[in-house]
Amino acid sequence: MKYRSDRAFLKKIAQERISVLDSLSVSSAISEPQLSKYYTTLMQRISSHYKVKMPKGGVPICKRCGTRMVPGVNAKVRLCSSGRYVAYSCSACGYEKHVHY
Ligand SMILES: [Zn+2]
Repeated sequence: MKYRSDRAFLKKIAQERISVLDSLSVSSAISEPQLSKYYTTLMQRISSHYKVKMPKGGVPICKRCGTRMVPGVNAKVRLCSSGRYVAYSCSACGYEKHVHY
């Protein structure tokens, strides 16, 4: 596959690494929470360095403690119909992230 430039090729690799790290952080959220936090930190660093967006749908990452919030594992999810948002609440620190719809 031909790429327009090296930069496009690097962005493609960064996107792949972010998706792999995302799946790893979800799978290790139960057994090894510290490792999951490290994976999310790596994801954010790769995303900011190569100016690549996080995966579609928004990855719920706790702003306070950096945990990847997995619903039913380490986060509670509820719908607020009056405010029209989905609230992810982190079970580790209690931070609540709102994703508007
Ligand atoms: Zn948290």
